[in-house]
Amino acid sequence: MNRIQENIRDNLSRVEEKILRALNKCDRQRSDVSLIVVSKAQPVEKIIAAYQCGIRNFGENYPEETAEKMAQIIGKNDIVWHMIGHLQSRKARIVAASFHVLHSLDAVRTAEKLEPLLAEIDKNLPVLIEINTGGEESKSGLDYRAGAGEAAIELFVDSMKNYPHLEIKGLMTMPPLWEQPEKARPYFQRLRLLMENLKEKFPSVSWQELSMGTSGDFETAIEEGATMIRIGQAVLGDRAYSNRQ
Ligand SMILES: *Cc1c(COP(=O)(O)O)cnc(C)c1O
Repeated sequence: MNRIQENIRDNLSRVEEKILRALNKCDRQRSDVSLIVVSKAQPVEKIIAAYQCGIRNFGENYPEETAEKMAQIIGKNDIVWHMIGHLQSRKARIVAASFHVLHSLDAVRTAEKLEPLLAEIDKNLPVLIEINTGGEESKSGLDYRAGAGEAAIELFVDSMKNYPHLEIKGLMTMPPLWEQPEKARPYFQRLRLLMENLKEKFPSVSWQELSMGTSGDFETAIEEGATMIRIGQAVLGDRAYSNRQ
């Protein structure tokens, strides 16, 4: 085992311990939450080391960067690639061809781009709708401030029936970043409540996934019902660049 791998193994065991503690608090099982290791701006060596520690779910933000890494990772065909960054519709082809889950759908235009690309290769793509729970200008996602926000989200969900190769599975959010994770709690609650409402309004959609929680706040997210947590630096260490997006 090399140095990089030892490091990641130690990080993972710390993160796993915290995941278990948070799950215990709210009587949930380990199998209720998937850990997605966010490997944007991380070298292929770290992805391979994490793979050797048992990780199969990786989150990436930039399709071109990911495609380059995929080309260098040979024979690990059980990796599940999650696109978690804002998707520009001109990058839709890479996402349709190479990713397994899209967490960040927030524009009908993007769905329109993806649909024929997926149909062409006969692939259904599990998709989460990104919600901007904090209403921050700088963040992507559908705006969700009480009232009007919800009506617009419902219209958006309704329009997804026109894109049968996109399988809506749930919601994703990236709340405002705080020093204390407790401050993120209301945003996680908001996402869970929104999904409960959508479940009633759109019972034929298989609402299952809440993708929420990063290195700084995943324990709070788990307590609030996260089914997917997206953890980068707490597992893989510092990134080669930050604040790109
Ligand atoms: C980078 C990123 C993460 C991971 O953040 P960390 O602080 O490294 O855990 C999670 N979700 C999204 C959408 C990201 O862009």
